[in-house]
Amino acid sequence: MNHTTALGLLTLLLVLSFPSEPASAAPAEAETRPNVIVIFTDDQGYQDVGCFGSPDIKTPRLDRMAKEGRRFTDFYVGAAVCSASRVALLTGCYPQRVGITGVLMPKAKIGINPDELTLAEVFKQRGYATAVVGKWHLGHRPKFLPTRHGFDEYFGLPYSNDMWPLNKRRKHPPLPLIDGEKTIEENPDQSQLVRRYTERAVDFIERNQKRPFFLYLPHTMPHVPLHVSEKFKDTSPRGLYGDVIQEIDWSVGQILDTVKRCGLDEKTLVLFTSDNGPWLIYGREHAGSALPLREGKGTTFEGGFREPCIMWWPGTIPADTKCSEMAATIDLLPTMAKLLGVELPKDRILDGRDIMPLMTGQPDAKSPHEAYAFYKGRHLQAVRSGQWKLHFPHDYHKVTASGKKGKRTRGERAKIGLSLFDLANDVGETKNVADEHPDVVARLKKLADRFRDDLGDTATKREGKNVRPPGRVGT
Ligand code: MG
Repeated sequence: MNHTTALGLLTLLLVLSFPSEPASAAPAEAETRPNVIVIFTDDQGYQDVGCFGSPDIKTPRLDRMAKEGRRFTDFYVGAAVCSASRVALLTGCYPQRVGITGVLMPKAKIGINPDELTLAEVFKQRGYATAVVGKWHLGHRPKFLPTRHGFDEYFGLPYSNDMWPLNKRRKHPPLPLIDGEKTIEENPDQSQLVRRYTERAVDFIERNQKRPFFLYLPHTMPHVPLHVSEKFKDTSPRGLYGDVIQEIDWSVGQILDTVKRCGLDEKTLVLFTSDNGPWLIYGREHAGSALPLREGKGTTFEGGFREPCIMWWPGTIPADTKCSEMAATIDLLPTMAKLLGVELPKDRILDGRDIMPLMTGQPDAKSPHEAYAFYKGRHLQAVRSGQWKLHFPHDYHKVTASGKKGKRTRGERAKIGLSLFDLANDVGETKNVADEHPDVVARLKKLADRFRDDLGDTATKREGKNVRPPGRVGT
């Protein structure tokens, strides 16, 4: 071996042993990689947090989180049901764009498409440790599990907690509790889920305190059937539903305390919200309240789509403030990608936008959404722009009697005609002002047509031009 070859080999060895850091992971930038924790409850109503106006549920930890952070009063989910809402959060797209528009049942053969970029995969591109602890509900067949979609770890249920043999209305197989990709228990004791999820989440934070991490904590509760641990039983004047929220509040406190104990408070963004509004047919003892909003889960009224949202990141998000600009779960992925310098794929449309200016409270920051779409399945039922929301004629389920002891309550099919609501003055969508504002109606109709062209609409028999299929078993 001559001298030049030896030198060349030495150089190669050095390069191999000390790979140069990619520009994105330079030390200065490492400091700007915050940890991110998303706490996503299930079927919690807009009013079911103290600082969002609950008269009978105590949430001291969430209230403190809001005091130290920022409340978002006009924060939307992608759909008023579980799976569709979750796919929106994790892909930054309207559910109609990515093909999961309803609720996946244990028989489902579809799930999140492996070609979609998930929030976890964005974080992975910057070397984050990633975990989901809780309810997944984006497909339970192996190829759809979180571990195949950017999450290093998974502990929780693959779908809703009512999809189990004790559900008398439908026949379901045993409900699996999964660790990684393995079922470790069937039909787990649901009264222990909040505690077990919390312990697992705390353990994940402690194990990864020296590197950036993304923790997604989608609680199973307060989706029916409600269960609470002994310690929180009968602690709320609101009954079992209140007890469950108070246990979740305890859990939020455990997470925030762990972040502080690890000295990570100024390096960690924590976001709290719910996947959709309260399931009102289960009555007052077993369902939340969306007041002062209209209706709840399963509808395109504000009670279905608008959720209590708190963001906390001491030193970056201003304390004790609120933001009333329109923002949504679909915004999280593009916001994080921009913050981390991760380039988004150019071959597809994402619907979310960067909301960091709203999060950091920059003066005059406005919602990046000219309009927001409210679909039920593939039916475009309403659109909001600024203070105005226009409903197109549609049916909905109206709850007409109060249920007792977790029994489903009666309701009736109700109809709404073309209606314009001024959310700035009528957040409860009670007074149709379409006749007074024909110009606004015309403008919102145009915006709706754009959504129809793009995402489709069964009511007007329009195929969307830019929709992508869900993942399917066997493809
Ligand atoms: Mg839900």
